[in-house]
Amino acid sequence: MAKRVLITGVAGFLGSHLADRFLADGWEVVGVDNFATGTPRNLRHLECESRFDLVEHDISKPLFVDVPLTGVLHFASPASPIDYAELPIQTLKVGGLGTHNTLGLAHRHGARYLLASTSEVYGDPQVNPQPEEYWGNVNPVGPRSMYDEAKRYAEAMTVAYRRAHGMETRIVRIFNTYGPRMRPDDGRVVSNFIVQGLKGEPMTIYGAGTQTRSFCYVDDLVEGIVRLLHSVRTAPTNLGNPEERSMLDLAALVMEETGSSASPVFRPLPPDDPTVRCPDIGAARRELEWTPTVGLREGIRRTMPYFRGLVAG
Ligand code: NAD
Ligand code: UDP
Repeated sequence: MAKRVLITGVAGFLGSHLADRFLADGWEVVGVDNFATGTPRNLRHLECESRFDLVEHDISKPLFVDVPLTGVLHFASPASPIDYAELPIQTLKVGGLGTHNTLGLAHRHGARYLLASTSEVYGDPQVNPQPEEYWGNVNPVGPRSMYDEAKRYAEAMTVAYRRAHGMETRIVRIFNTYGPRMRPDDGRVVSNFIVQGLKGEPMTIYGAGTQTRSFCYVDDLVEGIVRLLHSVRTAPTNLGNPEERSMLDLAALVMEETGSSASPVFRPLPPDDPTVRCPDIGAARRELEWTPTVGLREGIRRTMPYFRGLVAG
C-alpha cells in the first residue's frame, strides 16, 4: 500500500518543500491550504503530478478525508510577524482549532502526527541557546501573543492526544528558516534584505540591529523534519542552524552577496522583538543524527536566484 501524508499549509514556503520531499521519497501527498498566506505559485510545478492532490480548505474547520493516511503534518499558520499581526484571530484558530481538527483526523486514520511548532514558544528567552527543557518567557497579551500562545496551546493539545489516545505524535520547534518560495513581501528579515539588496535599496534594520537570530536553510530543515517523523522521539525537538548572527551581520552579508552599496537605514524595533535566539540542537544531533550542512552565505547564494526572478517580474 502506498504511503500517504496529509500536509496542511502546503502552498506555503515550508509546506511546498515538504510536499516535494515526500513525493521524491515515493509517497502520495494530500495538500491542504486556504491560501491565507501561501500562493498557488508554490505548487504550480505539481500540477501534473498524479501523486499530489490539493484540497482548498480552511483547516480551522473539520476536514474528512476518505483515503487512508499514514501521516499528518500540520504546517498551516500565518508565520511571519506581519502576517500574524494582520490575521490574529485566524492565527489563534489555526493553531487551536486547526491543531484539534488535524489531531482528530490523524487519530481516525491511525496516522502519525507531526506539529510545526516554533522557537517563538521560548518568547524573548532568558537562556541562550535555548534547550527544549526551557519553558520560555512569553508575553500572553503582547503583539506576538496570537502566534506564540497558539503554538504553545497546539503543543499542549498534541501532548494531550498522545497521552489520552496513545497516538504517535512529534513536535518540531522550528527556528528561523529561509530559502526559495518565501513570499517577497512577508516582511521577514531574509526576504526583506535580499529583495532590498537586489533592488539596490537600503536594508531596513529594526532597532540597533544587535538582536540575534540563527538562520537555517530550508533543505536542512526538511531533512530534520523527515528524520524526526521517522524517529522514536516524541519530545519537542528544536531544529535550526545554531550559527547565531546579529541583524547588522546579516545585512552586511546580504549587501556583499547582492552587490548593494546602499547604506542601511534604521527603523524602530517592534515591541517584544526577541533579543536573542539560537537553538540548542543537542537532542537532534544525538537522537536524529541530524546536523545542518548549509552555512548562511551558501544558503543566501542558493536563495537569491528565486528572488532575482521575482524582482525581475
Ligand atoms: P507560510 O505562510 O509560507 O505557509 C503557511 C501556509 O499555511 C500558507 O500556505 C497559508 O495559506 C496556510 N494556511 C494558513 N492558515 C490556514 C488555514 N486556516 N487553513 C489552511 N491553510 C492555512 O509560512 P511557513 O514559513 O511555510 O511556515 C509553515 C509552518 O512552519 C507554520 O506553522 C509556522 O508557524 C512554522 N514555522 C516556520 C518558521 C520559518 O522560519 N519559516 C519558523 C517557525 C515555525
Ligand atoms: N528585522 C529587521 N529588518 C527587517 C525585518 C526584520 O531588522 O526588514 C529584524 C526583526 O526586528 C527581528 C529579526 O530581524 O529582530 C528577525 O525578524 P523576522 O521577522 O524574520 O523573524 P522573527 O522576529 O519572527 O524571528
